[in-house]
Amino acid sequence: MSTNKPMPMPTSISAPFWEGLKAGRILMQHCGACDQWTFYPRRHCSHCWSSQVEFREVSGEGRLYTFTVARVPTLPEFAGPEPQLMAVVELDEGVRLNTTLVGVSADEVEVGMRVKPVRARVAEDGTVLLRFTSAHVDLEEVDEVPRQPAATAPAEDARPVRQIPLSDETALQSLVSEEFSPWSNQVLVDQDMINQFAELSGDRYWIHTDPERARKEGPFGGTIAHGALVQILMSRMQVDLGYEITGFTNMVNYGSERLRFPSPVPAGSLIHARGRVKSVERSRRGTQLVLELNVHVVGQERPAVINDLIILYM
Ligand SMILES: [Zn+2]
Repeated sequence: MSTNKPMPMPTSISAPFWEGLKAGRILMQHCGACDQWTFYPRRHCSHCWSSQVEFREVSGEGRLYTFTVARVPTLPEFAGPEPQLMAVVELDEGVRLNTTLVGVSADEVEVGMRVKPVRARVAEDGTVLLRFTSAHVDLEEVDEVPRQPAATAPAEDARPVRQIPLSDETALQSLVSEEFSPWSNQVLVDQDMINQFAELSGDRYWIHTDPERARKEGPFGGTIAHGALVQILMSRMQVDLGYEITGFTNMVNYGSERLRFPSPVPAGSLIHARGRVKSVERSRRGTQLVLELNVHVVGQERPAVINDLIILYM
């Protein structure tokens, strides 16, 4: 199952196209000066450079201009049901789109055949990609929202939990390990979530909130999540550390010994986390356990967040 497919990052120019798809409409730019159509969305007509372009709804019907059968994913992120029928479709308005054919097998596909649009829902937030199928196939919508088995059925393959009494010094020390736990469930960090965090925190810096500017001027080719957002999303990731400490009266989050953001989380990324017990120490305040929690973009070696969390048991 693919888990890290890039998601569309609407700009002020392309947003009507993406919003249209969410609402079940296909919007293409039409030029008032030369009466021709343009795709992808841009400021100027690609035929006459006039800026008199406006979005208009089209049927999405057209013909197959060309296609190829991809039997292995073109990138790991695009792994899915193979083979994939990657296609260029020419709409009746004359514009050509890169897309994928669904609902047909490779031997049913022929260059020049009539095609019609299929809405592919790809994320929980309602994001829709435009796919196509044969005009004869009864298919209008497909559901490609990634399913996250860890999030829906956490208990089934959970490891046995070790009960460790707070008074058992030897058992506590045996928790310390160089080895990390299994990965947690995955969480999608999309532009909508980043925007909400920008509002909440007041950090509306363009590298987080302005996809168009971030694409043009930023070092990451698009917007990225706030480090602090990724850090607090830890609460949505269930890390199975395999133990449970018992026999305490109070447990407090005492802060962090080390907090680093070594790599960015681009908008549209899936993240997951894992952890390990780094140290256990007795002090006057109580028993202090340092938990190293690392958040990664799925598939990335380098962590996005390293947080050495101090948990104090009393
Ligand atoms: Zn024009």
